[in-house]
Amino acid sequence: MTEFLKEKTVFQRLPENVIPVHYEIMLEPNLEDFNFAGETNITIKVVESTSKIILNSLDLLIDEAKLEVEDGRVLIGNTTMYNESETAAIVFDTLIPKGNSILRLKFTGTLNSRLNGFYRAKYTIEGEVRHAACTQFEPTGARRCFPCWDEPNFKATFQFVLVVPKDKVALNNMPEVSSIEHPTNSSLRVVKFDTTPMMSTYITAVYVGEADFIESKTNSGVVVRVFTPKGEAETGRFSLDLAVKTLEFFDDYFKVPYPLPKADMIAISEYYGGAMENWGLVTFRETALLVDPVKTSVARKKRVASTVMHELAHMWFGNLVTMEWWTDLWLKEGFATFCSYLSGDKLLPSYEFINSMFSDCYGSAFHLDCLRSSHPIEVPVSSPNEIDEIFDEISYSKGSVLINMIHNFIGDEFFRNGMNMYLRKFAYKNSKTEDLWEALGEASSLPVKSVMSTWTRQMGFPLISVSIKQVGGVQKLEFSQERFIADGSKDENGLRWMVPITAVSEKSQTVPFATFLLDRSSEDIIIDSKVAEGWIKVNYGQLGFYRVKYSEELLKRLVPPLKSMTLPPLDRLGIVTDVDALVQAGKSSTVDLLELFWAYQSEDSYVVWSSICSGLSRLQNICEIMGYKKPMDSYTRKLLQKVLSMLGWNAVEGEKVTTGSFRARILLHAGLAGDKSVLEESRRRFKRHLDCVELIPADLRAAIYCIVMAFGDKETFETLKKLFNEESSSEERQRIGSAFGQARDESILHEVLEFSESEHVRKQESVLLLGAVASSQLGQQLAWNYYKEKHEDLVRKFPGAWHIGNVIQSFTSSFASEERAKEVEEFFSKHPAGVEMTVKQCVESIRLNAGWLTRDGESLKKYLDKYAE
Ligand SMILES: [Zn+2]
Repeated sequence: MTEFLKEKTVFQRLPENVIPVHYEIMLEPNLEDFNFAGETNITIKVVESTSKIILNSLDLLIDEAKLEVEDGRVLIGNTTMYNESETAAIVFDTLIPKGNSILRLKFTGTLNSRLNGFYRAKYTIEGEVRHAACTQFEPTGARRCFPCWDEPNFKATFQFVLVVPKDKVALNNMPEVSSIEHPTNSSLRVVKFDTTPMMSTYITAVYVGEADFIESKTNSGVVVRVFTPKGEAETGRFSLDLAVKTLEFFDDYFKVPYPLPKADMIAISEYYGGAMENWGLVTFRETALLVDPVKTSVARKKRVASTVMHELAHMWFGNLVTMEWWTDLWLKEGFATFCSYLSGDKLLPSYEFINSMFSDCYGSAFHLDCLRSSHPIEVPVSSPNEIDEIFDEISYSKGSVLINMIHNFIGDEFFRNGMNMYLRKFAYKNSKTEDLWEALGEASSLPVKSVMSTWTRQMGFPLISVSIKQVGGVQKLEFSQERFIADGSKDENGLRWMVPITAVSEKSQTVPFATFLLDRSSEDIIIDSKVAEGWIKVNYGQLGFYRVKYSEELLKRLVPPLKSMTLPPLDRLGIVTDVDALVQAGKSSTVDLLELFWAYQSEDSYVVWSSICSGLSRLQNICEIMGYKKPMDSYTRKLLQKVLSMLGWNAVEGEKVTTGSFRARILLHAGLAGDKSVLEESRRRFKRHLDCVELIPADLRAAIYCIVMAFGDKETFETLKKLFNEESSSEERQRIGSAFGQARDESILHEVLEFSESEHVRKQESVLLLGAVASSQLGQQLAWNYYKEKHEDLVRKFPGAWHIGNVIQSFTSSFASEERAKEVEEFFSKHPAGVEMTVKQCVESIRLNAGWLTRDGESLKKYLDKYAE
């Protein structure tokens, strides 16, 4: 027995000698005592005769284990739990014969408050605290609810039975088939659900609680419902309408129908992630599903839309076809993310989804993947913490970017055909990355697998250097590639990619004069003398996942078309974000970037400004550390002047849907940089809002709350806190909570940290408050000290690696000194948080900031001196 324990402390996949075929699961949650009783009858197929069955189980007490063998015998099992490996071994004193048997288990568990497994979610109705019972399983939480083969490749069918209080709503992946009064307790009812198709454990789900709903149907008859808090059914309308359209869109796009009879979506009061794609019962945090006609901003509505579309894309990618193991997590996450932009572009064109893919996905992927501590998209993982840690920007953002790149490389028609082949071939089964490449390759007759393997099997991405030269009588454009590493160092492994290169020129602005695959370290192409004279823009439309470094001459030529906005918005964005990245890597100077920003003064595209604002925030962080915040603020105010007066304060009739978000972003930056008129107007509007004279439009609320708090005092904080406490809308609470972090007074920030532990704060809001405090240098120091003090509590509070990883990242990654890097490194080597990869990434980021400061600090000061007032 001891030997067995030792061997299992290293995480291993479950043995495949016994395979689950069908589960009958009965759960009876007790919403007062916060525990549950359960029974499961699992039809298993014994492939190799054995006397021991190993399956996953965690935090459950298995009281009884029996096995009904095909010949009618009933064997009694002896159960041992292994917490370390999250398994249970059921041992029988005789060999179980090959073939089908039924494993009958009785168990009990706690309805925990960790928002993972089978948990209780707190909510309030008229001041009364109540609880719902719900589930969050991905990736390894199902084993906390019922003993099971909790790995994605063990697909089986499931039938759930819930025993619930009569007046509660009971939901599962499948529709209800019967509901009868409990035979011995008339206050309970027994609800039986239909059997699911073949599926993985991590997408099963149940919900027991109170809810209202609204309902609709797709053109193929699938029932779609949105469940909301009591009395708020209409806040589900936007998501309901969109869900119907989205399911119809994907039905048509992939030519594979949505396989279940219903699609439910439900908002849960306490919820750590954004949403979870349980098949037929998608769960969301309230802010990711509900839209209030007055309180919801366009930016939030867009997030709701993209979350709904992302989760519904999973009904095909992830649920119907599932990755064989978490190594290929990116397959479903990258795809669902890509699909949300694809469908968003078609279903909500005014929201400009495709444009935001570049600031959202490309931006985040570049940001993480330039680190030495990044990881390849296909990554070996074994422990639950390791699995948790790869739910990151590499799997989601880089995944979606690569799909976008290949979509463009092979074209939409071949892409659709390939996807259809892939979905049909692997429906109700599992697949690996290369299965997808094979399908797309077969559909397009292009070398998809060899191109894409260079992107998924190695980490990082290339920097393409471009220069122009005259050789003899001909003009040549020289392209070379090397791995782009954030600190500017050379890659000792000489990694190379198959890079789809495209380039347009002043003479041919919309049709690329060059399109080729760069697979060597460098390549020259001969160009027309007319092309050679004007500007040249590489990576047309920014579809390729690579950075471009232009020679000085070529970069200079790009300034006029930037100023005149002759280049399309995404290309204008590409130029500035590439230079920004080169600055951070020490391959270009910060002063050059600040100079380049002036070319964008009259820029009218939100997506471009959104990237510039992110760049400005990073610079502001660096300047704050140097004690040069004021001159940097003054530079920022001047830079934003034109766009600020272009956008004004008020919506103009007929303006784009996204203009409100654009306006809010610019006002926020200008306001935080101390623009007096913005500050005054923010205060005036805030007062009128408080006095109920004129409510602030939803789009502007976050910006105004932040600005008044940044320049406010204790009284401002108390006012905001009162608003927070009295508010029931999660979205509004989130906005106010984020604004708390803008306080520049240490005692207020301390209070926010304390407040994050208050019972008035929902679990997910406490993560938000902690992150908000860490948004300034002052706050970050306080937050880090707080973290060191509370390390153990926090690790316990946030289950799994994902949340604690996020907290650690927001608390440390903006520091900028070697001392801090060492401190963080040493702290976590003494007090591990189970997120080694994240800690490495944070430490690397701190060192990058430190390097940047040392390299460019002096010249930056000198440049900013002219803005000092
Ligand atoms: Zn997802």
